[in-house]
Amino acid sequence: MRIILAQPRGFCAGVIRAIAIVEAALARFGAPVYVRHEIVHNRHVVDTLRAKGARFVERLADVPTGAITIFSAHGVAQQVEVEARARSLSVLDATCPLVAKVHGQGKRYVAQGRVVILVGHAGHPEVEGTLGQIPGRVVLVQTERDVDALDLAADTPVAYITQTTLSVDDTRAVIAALQRRFHDIVGPDINDICYATQNRQSAVRALVGTVEVLLVVGARNSSNSNRLREIGVEAGVPSYLIADGSELDPAWLRGVSAVGLTAGASAPEELVDDVIATLRKLGPVEVSVLSGVEERVVFGLPPGLLGGQPKTARAV
Ligand code: SF4
Repeated sequence: MRIILAQPRGFCAGVIRAIAIVEAALARFGAPVYVRHEIVHNRHVVDTLRAKGARFVERLADVPTGAITIFSAHGVAQQVEVEARARSLSVLDATCPLVAKVHGQGKRYVAQGRVVILVGHAGHPEVEGTLGQIPGRVVLVQTERDVDALDLAADTPVAYITQTTLSVDDTRAVIAALQRRFHDIVGPDINDICYATQNRQSAVRALVGTVEVLLVVGARNSSNSNRLREIGVEAGVPSYLIADGSELDPAWLRGVSAVGLTAGASAPEELVDDVIATLRKLGPVEVSVLSGVEERVVFGLPPGLLGGQPKTARAV
């Protein structure tokens, strides 16, 4: 069986930075450090950091006063920042700079007197953080039908922003519907939202033309991993999301000579290796990589980890 790997796949710069922040905080300040929400959506990553002394909590109320506290890559609402200040927590902010950039866009549009329309998935932590970062009227839409149902006059000045784990292709139809509905509408260059989401999706689109089955390594709650699987399904290729090799069902591969393998932005390469090792147990395999974009994006650590203490009660 041939295994063809998508390029790029797996960790993006935002995830690498977020994990590095937790590891650097443990090295600099010692265990425990507290992390609000899963630092990235991958159980393997979370379990590894937990074993090193990170404690994951969903509510800041579960963090002892004054403790080192890390916000996850998905970002947080302003209300969470306020609560951290009130609790005198020493905060290191692992919000991906590309998510923070969307927050900045939303704030600028509100300051211009526009209603902000966020294209994203309800309930996702990034969406909740973005909704809670914009101090003005902001509404969430997920589909073209949601656009039709918006209770806003056609001449309302509006602006759209998007969840980073939606690609240009994902948002194109909704944004087109918004542009039909509103006369005074602005938005950022959507080619510029998140390079990693776009690159991973483009790589899967190239891959599914050459394979009979697609395996996506990623967590069930990982938005971008689910989307990679959906792209396979949309192309008519049986596609499965698996956490690691243990979730692989040999029945999926009966009679299959070429399988495509990719990983969501929060899935480490060692889990891809684990899937390949599992496939090897089923019979001889030949592994190759489909040529694709070489990513060179790197995000630096926050100042609180480069020198000095994290600023008490505010994000650094
Ligand atoms: S997928 Fe994009 S926005 Fe999300 S953490 Fe990675 S680089 Fe940042």
